[in-house]
Amino acid sequence: MGEAIVVGGGIGGLAAAVALHRHGWRVTVLERAAVAGEVGAGLSLMANGLRALDALGLGAAVRARGRADTPGGLRDRTGRWLSRVDGDQLERMLGTRAVGVHRADLHALLRTALPAGALVTGARVGDVDPSTGEVRHHHAAGVTTIRGDLVVGADGLRSAVRARLWPDLPPPVYAGSTAWRAVVTWPEPLPTEVTWGPGAEFGIVPMGDGRVYWYGAVTAPPGGQAPDELAEVRRRFGSWHEPIPALLDATAPAAVLRHDLHHLAEPLPSYVRGRVALLGDAAHAMTPNLGQGAQQALEDAVVLGAACAGGPGRLPDALDSYDRQRRPRSQEVARASLRAGRFGQQLRNPLAVAARAMLLRLTPPRAALRAMARYADWTPPAS
Ligand SMILES: Cc1cc2nc3c(=O)[nH]c(=O)nc-3n(C[C@H](O)[C@H](O)[C@H](O)COP(=O)(O)OP(=O)(O)OC[C@H]3O[C@@H](n4cnc5c(N)ncnc54)[C@H](O)[C@@H]3O)c2cc1C
Repeated sequence: MGEAIVVGGGIGGLAAAVALHRHGWRVTVLERAAVAGEVGAGLSLMANGLRALDALGLGAAVRARGRADTPGGLRDRTGRWLSRVDGDQLERMLGTRAVGVHRADLHALLRTALPAGALVTGARVGDVDPSTGEVRHHHAAGVTTIRGDLVVGADGLRSAVRARLWPDLPPPVYAGSTAWRAVVTWPEPLPTEVTWGPGAEFGIVPMGDGRVYWYGAVTAPPGGQAPDELAEVRRRFGSWHEPIPALLDATAPAAVLRHDLHHLAEPLPSYVRGRVALLGDAAHAMTPNLGQGAQQALEDAVVLGAACAGGPGRLPDALDSYDRQRRPRSQEVARASLRAGRFGQQLRNPLAVAARAMLLRLTPPRAALRAMARYADWTPPAS
């Protein structure tokens, strides 16, 4: 069978390695970090992400580890409901509830599905040759070049593989917002909910084991840093409705992560070149407003694995098929995510905020559910 080299051991890269391994490929994942892992934050996995994990044989384990969502809905900062989600109806529509999960847990599950030794840490890829499949990487002992029949560029937002293969493409741009995230211990049940204020959004995602993931995002100039990020989050969200202040009180200052949000404003003309396929943020870094970045990476991985099931002999057709299946959908989701951010978190004008509230309250619940389900309703290709 063929030899696949995956550049980047994030959620997308590991998922691609698992998918290819399940289709008989020998896989090596080159990860630049010295220790494999993920940031201390959560993810809400919707039907599409869960179905992708089912196709990787990991759906049941993720459901057991995470927590099935009790959807609450959308509120304003005083706590008034703008739109409520009927969880049972959403489940009937999509066939499953969303699941809140710690990113580190998902990463660990993906790692366990790989053969021993497949993940190589402390290996920073510097160059990839799309025609030969040669991958040059730097590690503690020097520089090594290895060759794959297939190379997967899963090296994230600032992808070196993307820059090497599409050197004229502009780098990712700042999306206009910065976000804080943390995971806290919170033994009582909470619904999954999002709250909008002018130019700001706070989200709550309960996970398994009595933990809750929260995030807060605001429109702001790039590069901002506060001496105490938790105090900054309190300054911006501490007067919002409960349980937001209580969650912030339960948060350890060291647990708070802050990231400026970037996305690929100019979509790639192709996700493949020669023997190389891009996936995840390397292919379509998007804003997090629809909570779809990692889930699109999981979809990419499953589709790439299925497309390459015929082995290296059929690679050009397989990669062409991967590109045709993934590029339109993931780029559409990226555009929708940007729009969702403009209508949601980034809206500041008081008149527009009031008009949005009225529109949301007048939207029939079924139409709101259909809008929510739109991008989550995806099914993996038959292998
Ligand atoms: C604030 C925020 C909230 C988000 N919320 C959600 C959400 O709720 N749901 C959701 O689905 N998505 C969410 N996302 C998006 C999600 O985090 C990303 O889309 C997802 O992690 C992308 O996975 P990836 O594997 O493609 O890239 P990454 O996770 O960035 O992984 C890339 C890996 O490649 C490695 N690497 C980089 N360069 C090299 C190199 N040269 N050589 C070797 N290794 C290299 C990196 O160390 C890293 O491990 C959020 C993002 C942000 C910023």
